[in-house]
Amino acid sequence: MHRDLEAVYIAETPVIAEVVVLWLGEHGIPAHLIHAGSEGPAQGIQVWVNDPTQAEEAQRLLEEFKAKQQAEETVGGGGPVEATCEECDKVTTFPAKERGSVQHCPHCGAFMDVTDGADEDADLDVGESEEGP
Ligand SMILES: [Zn+2]
Repeated sequence: MHRDLEAVYIAETPVIAEVVVLWLGEHGIPAHLIHAGSEGPAQGIQVWVNDPTQAEEAQRLLEEFKAKQQAEETVGGGGPVEATCEECDKVTTFPAKERGSVQHCPHCGAFMDVTDGADEDADLDVGESEEGP
């Protein structure tokens, strides 16, 4: 089954597009950019492979690329998470990538949610008030 040749990646910014093209090039897949401009419905910059037969390989590589980027974003963006154990009340710092997961408390061994804050709970409480006018 052959699909029509299509963009293997849509980049949100020129910088990302450049990185993708360079990254594909390093893996032996020459690629180039097509600016969607005002014609296409999608904003963004399309990355096309020069050789259509390499499109599948490029897409596989780009899955890796996206996974790698997401990992970096998570680590870089969030920073370490300080979570408080509900059992022993001690604060433990977890790496950002463990945010939102459940870990063992190193102090008492209890399960604890790795969250750094009150954000989620606060939103729930503030939403509706039963005190009418
Ligand atoms: Zn604990």
